[in-house]
Amino acid sequence: MKKILFVSHCILNTASKVVLYNQADIDAEEDLRVRFLTKAVQSGVQLVQLPCPEFTLYGSQRWGHVSNQFDNVFFRNHCRKILQPILDQMKEYLQHGEMFEVLGVVGIDGSPSCGVDYTCEANWFGSFEGRTGLQETLDSCVLVKKSGIFMQVLKDMIQEEQLQDKIKISSLFAPEPEKCLNMI
Ligand code: SF4
Repeated sequence: MKKILFVSHCILNTASKVVLYNQADIDAEEDLRVRFLTKAVQSGVQLVQLPCPEFTLYGSQRWGHVSNQFDNVFFRNHCRKILQPILDQMKEYLQHGEMFEVLGVVGIDGSPSCGVDYTCEANWFGSFEGRTGLQETLDSCVLVKKSGIFMQVLKDMIQEEQLQDKIKISSLFAPEPEKCLNMI
């Protein structure tokens, strides 16, 4: 029986991530990513890579965003479109339970898109030029206990297919390593 786990794109390809500058955060996430992948490969778990909604909309030169900025119909439509082939794969694996066990989905906590238990919020918009209070605006970003927009759309689509009892969703989050490690 093959075990299947769907994972956020950057768990397998960190080149898709927004450029980060906090080295301690980068190191902590990378350490957990390697532990998680090592455990998955050693356990024979097959990994299906979700598409990266931000890279496929804004490319590699994008700024870091907050989830409020992606909470619009255009971003949600983009998520839905690129997630449809993933939903189809989930359904096919689930339909053949004698061959496959779908372990679930692992996202990335803190991300405005792929956060599962936590995402980042702030009231960010507008140009940088000529504005005052930029530092206060940047500092207003907070981690909140809800999903990022891509994961919200994925959860909606899973629910529409009535698969919510069959698909567990967890996340890679350095402060809570057991969340992703326990999915394997
Ligand atoms: S949008 Fe998701 S897959 Fe893309 S870089 Fe961010 S967390 Fe990773």
